[in-house]
Amino acid sequence: MKLTGKQTRAWLLNFSAKIQEKKQDLNDLDQAIGDGDHGSNMARGVHAVEEAIKNENHTPASEILKKAAMAMVSKVGGASGPLYGTAFLEMAKVIDTEELPTVLAAGLDGVKKRSKADADEKTMADMWAPVVKALQEKKLTKDVINESVEATKELKATKGRASYLNEGSIGHLDPGSVSSSYLFFALLEEVDV
Ligand code: ADP
Ligand code: MG
Ligand code: MG
Repeated sequence: MKLTGKQTRAWLLNFSAKIQEKKQDLNDLDQAIGDGDHGSNMARGVHAVEEAIKNENHTPASEILKKAAMAMVSKVGGASGPLYGTAFLEMAKVIDTEELPTVLAAGLDGVKKRSKADADEKTMADMWAPVVKALQEKKLTKDVINESVEATKELKATKGRASYLNEGSIGHLDPGSVSSSYLFFALLEEVDV
């Protein structure tokens, strides 16, 4: 299926609501292996996304995503801002013409390109990869999303702030993967995937 502008807007507004609700949890997760600001960073970003798209009722999906990307890049101010920004921008390039799994695959490529992280470096890319694969196989469920987040726990961070802890990062969830899970939970709620 292809997403309409309306569905894309609803999806991102739902994502924003979840992030704002989980702001403290995300800060706590980042406190354990980073600098404790991931929830605050993301909440600032999605608030700007909300402002940018809330009145865009008749806007194509590509434009909604471009506005969201600009908001994340300009407002987040942590490593996660450019990552989400690039993901949204790469999705914007294809969302008006391609099927949903292709759109999310483009988002994952954007994350990888921007992060320069390989698999198993305990970054958002490790969470996105199995989710996009499940989407392509028409097997995406809440369980798949939860398992993809849980799988980041055992990984040792070799990119980003968490890498300063080295082995100490093992046993903790990757905060960016947890915030990404809300993007996919929101998608499941708004769209029949
Ligand atoms: P900062 O680390 O600058 O404080 P945030 O706390 O907002 O930024 O975001 C941290 C999250 O960003 C991490 O949990 C991880 O998922 C993601 N991240 C950081 N660096 C990278 C990277 N190089 N590649 C992919 N994801 C990364
Ligand atoms: Mg942080
Ligand atoms: Mg920070």
